[in-house]
Amino acid sequence: MHITFCGAAQQVTGSCFLFETSATRFLVDCGLFQGHAATRARNLEPFAFDPLGIDFVILTHAHLDHSGLLPRLGAQGFKGPIYTTSATRDLLPVLLLDSAHLQEMEAERATRRHRDPRVAYDVDDVDHVLKQVQPIPYDVPSKLAPGVEVILRDAGHILGSAIVELSITEGGRSKKVVVSGDLGQTGRPILRDPAVIREADVLLLESTYGDRNHKSLPDTLDELTGILNPALSSGVVLVPSFAVGRAQELLYYLNRLARDSRVGKLNVFVDSPMAQQVTAITAHHLELFNDEARRLAAGGAAPGAPSIRVHFTDHVQDSIALNRIEAGAVILAGSGMCDGGRIRHHLRQRLPNPHTTVLIVGFQAMGTLGRELVDGARSVRLFGEDVPVRARIATLGGFSAHADQSALLGWLSQLSAAPRHLFLVHGEPRSCGGLAAAIKSRLGWEARIPADAERVEV
Ligand SMILES: [Zn+2]
Repeated sequence: MHITFCGAAQQVTGSCFLFETSATRFLVDCGLFQGHAATRARNLEPFAFDPLGIDFVILTHAHLDHSGLLPRLGAQGFKGPIYTTSATRDLLPVLLLDSAHLQEMEAERATRRHRDPRVAYDVDDVDHVLKQVQPIPYDVPSKLAPGVEVILRDAGHILGSAIVELSITEGGRSKKVVVSGDLGQTGRPILRDPAVIREADVLLLESTYGDRNHKSLPDTLDELTGILNPALSSGVVLVPSFAVGRAQELLYYLNRLARDSRVGKLNVFVDSPMAQQVTAITAHHLELFNDEARRLAAGGAAPGAPSIRVHFTDHVQDSIALNRIEAGAVILAGSGMCDGGRIRHHLRQRLPNPHTTVLIVGFQAMGTLGRELVDGARSVRLFGEDVPVRARIATLGGFSAHADQSALLGWLSQLSAAPRHLFLVHGEPRSCGGLAAAIKSRLGWEARIPADAERVEV
């Protein structure tokens, strides 16, 4: 069989892996390219394969860098099923429709500036491709094609996220092929830990944080407390975050800090038109929560525990009204990498104010506005204007949705033997390089870092 790395090779976006066996051709993920203009331009290029020749897609999770080109794949002739978990099936319309809307808005701006207004897809393409999604349960083998069986295991990254475990039989011989998708951290609230995989002949492993370790949870909470108290007494804290995943976890921790009287009175605004939909979807999937979160959801919190006040803003007017708040509030708004969504309006409004703190809790891909802020930009472009950055930019890696280097090594070391082929994907060159070196020194295993569009035989 052959694997082609059509995206997420030495970068974190555009996840898309083409598998070709003697009997079938299929993709794992079909993600959007995000970041630099040159990277995003790839969303408009032809696929590296004929979409008509793809029999099915397996989707690891709903994040756009994994799912965001599915509507284009459908529009270009892909007619097959898209297999994923039921929670991902439920989240997918929210993310893909938002992506289509953002692209349409960008196209309008491009038209006004006499630039290329093409979009990768529109809302109709999203509606069409959503009909192709077929949920399959976690941990149950499904036969997808002759000689191809899949089991989706919990990846603990966001609601519905999956590790793809494939059994591929060709010429009477079977191989276990595992695609990690994005792996979550272990021991976190709400979600379960990433499932343990014991066996893999071929493994595609994510390496977003392959070159570094997050701070421990107690240290991260100390750091958060140290940031919040001074920041909130004089200003507002902005948190770029999508309404799923980080947002819920951060709310959980803010609540905990308030309960332990480590932070003062706190108003949290979740400024997202999608937040209520996502909250409802999350509530429908309590079966995927870990024990502690299930207990809390069932009303098991300590009686009389003080909690933060959480406000959801849906309408644009409510979002604009947040501009009048001068201090004491945390505003969470998407997108997580600041390349779209309401967070850009808040940043335009508040970056010039030295009393603002921007709290970065998720990975910021190269070329995104979020990355510019993390890298210390003094001025950024927003809505065609130069906006000076006088706000404090604080990064908290400990809340990341991704396993760090030691967690990736820990997960790998649970395999009973070295995979015959180990490929590091979904990481910038420094991250996959750092992880390959650590794997070599700790486990003595060789890992390969495939090039973009590389095709390998395994
Ligand atoms: Zn992800």
